[in-house]
Amino acid sequence: MSLKKRLIDIYYTLAFRLTLWYAGIFILSACIAFFFFYFLITSVIRQQTDQDLLSEARTFSSILAVQGPDALKRQAFLEAQAGGEKKIFFRLLFITGQLFSSSNMSYWRDIGVKKEVINRLLNDSGPIFDTINIPNRKHQVRILYAALGPGMIVQLGRAMDNYTRIIEAFQRIFVITMAALFILAAVVGWFMAKRALAGVETVTQTARRISDRSLDERVPVKTRVNEIDQLAITFNQMLDRIQKLVTEIKEMNDNIAHDLKSPITRIRGIAEVSMTTESTLQDYENMAGSTVEECDRLLDMINTMLIISKTEAGVGQFESKELDVARVVQDACELFLPMAESHGVNLICDAPERLLIIGDVRMIQRMISNLLDNSVKYTPEGGNIHVAAHSDKRQSIQISVRDTGMGISPEDLPHIFERFYRCDPSRSLAGTGLGLSFARAIASAHGGEITVASEVNHGSTFIVELPGKIS
Ligand code: ADP
Repeated sequence: MSLKKRLIDIYYTLAFRLTLWYAGIFILSACIAFFFFYFLITSVIRQQTDQDLLSEARTFSSILAVQGPDALKRQAFLEAQAGGEKKIFFRLLFITGQLFSSSNMSYWRDIGVKKEVINRLLNDSGPIFDTINIPNRKHQVRILYAALGPGMIVQLGRAMDNYTRIIEAFQRIFVITMAALFILAAVVGWFMAKRALAGVETVTQTARRISDRSLDERVPVKTRVNEIDQLAITFNQMLDRIQKLVTEIKEMNDNIAHDLKSPITRIRGIAEVSMTTESTLQDYENMAGSTVEECDRLLDMINTMLIISKTEAGVGQFESKELDVARVVQDACELFLPMAESHGVNLICDAPERLLIIGDVRMIQRMISNLLDNSVKYTPEGGNIHVAAHSDKRQSIQISVRDTGMGISPEDLPHIFERFYRCDPSRSLAGTGLGLSFARAIASAHGGEITVASEVNHGSTFIVELPGKIS
C-alpha cells in the first residue's frame, strides 16, 4: 500500500477524526482563555499608565495654583529628569497653544500638539488621552492633555515600554504553550479515541473471524456494560438469530430432501414397473392413478411450503374480507365427522354465535382443518374431540380443538410448530410435518397466535386466538 493511500486511510478513520475534534476544541478553548487574559492584562496596564499620568497632572495643577508658573516649570523639569528623558516628556502651553515650557524634546521631536484637542479642552471637557505610534519605534506613547488652571494646559507623554514588553512576553508564552497544548491534546485525544473504539475493533475482528470461519464466535462482553458493550450484546444476539436461522435452513433442506425423496422414489418405482412388466390396461390405469396421487401430494407439500415461507416473510397474498369463524368451524366439523366416525372417535362442535373477523376464508378453513385432522389422526378409538369457538370481552375470538388423544411429550412440545417436525410416536402415521407450521403462519398473518397445552396419553388442546372484527 502506498504511503499516500495509507495517509488517506488514516485520515478517514474515526479515531483520527475524533482526535482532530478533541484537539481542535481543546485549542479553541485555550485560545479563548488566552485572549481573555490578554485583554485583561493590557487594559489593567493601560489603566495604570493613565492613572499615573492623571496624578502627575493633578500635582502640576496644585503646584501652579499654590506656587505659580515658574515653580511648576522647575518641578516639571525635575520630574522629567527623574523619570528619564526617553520615558517621560511634558509641554506646558498657554491656552493660545503657545509653548511656555517643555522638557528636552529632542527624543520626542515627532510628537506635536494637536490643535483640535486643545480646542476641546477649552470647551471645558475633562482630561483627554491619546495613544501614538512613532514610526521605527517599538513602543507606543500614551499622551494626556489636561487643563492645569486658568490659562495653562499640559501635554504629558509616557513611553509604554513595559506594556510592549509584557505583550511580547505574552505572545511568546502563547505560541509555546499553544504548540505544547496541541501536541498534548493530540496525544491524549488519540489515546482516548483508541481506547473508546477498542470495543468496536473487537466487534470488527469477531465479524471478520466469523466471515472467515464459523458462526460460533461471539464478541466478549464485560460485566460493566457501556455503549460499546451494548453494541457487542446486540451483535451477539444478531449472531444467535442468524445461527438459529442457518441451522433451521439446513435442517429444512435435509427435511425437504428427505420428504421429496420418498414420493419421487415411489413415482420412479411405478414408472419402472410399467416399463418392465407386461400388464393389463387396468393395471396401467391403476399405476397412472397412483402417479397422479403421488404428484398431487408432492405439489400440495410444495405449495404449503411456499405459503408458509411467503406468510412468514410478510409477502403472502391474502384476501381481507369479513367472515364468520363460527360458520367455518361448523363446516369443518361437518366435513370431518365421517372421518371421526370411521376412526371410532366422538366429535363435538360448539360454535353457536356469529364470530366475525377480517381475513382469508380459505386460509382459515385450511388452518382449522389441519388442527381437526391432527386431532382425529392422533386420537385412538373411543376418544373424544371437542371443537369450540367463542369470543371474549376484548373482542378476541378463540377457537379451541381439544382431544383425548396420545398427547405430546414436554421435549417435543417446543418444536411441533417447526417445519417438518414430527414427534416419534406419530411417524408411523401419514403426514408431512407442515400442518402446524402452516396453522401458526396463518394465525400470525391474521394478527393472532396459536398455543398448545398437552399431556402424554391424556390429550392436547390447541387454541387459536384471532382479533375479532371491530364493529
Ligand atoms: P403432521 O403432518 O405430522 O401431522 P403437523 O405439523 O400437523 O404435522 O404436526 C406436527 C407434529 O405434532 C405431529 O407429527 C404430531 O407428532 C404432533 N401433533 C400435532 N397435533 C397433535 C395432536 N392433536 N395430538 C398429538 N400430537 C399431535
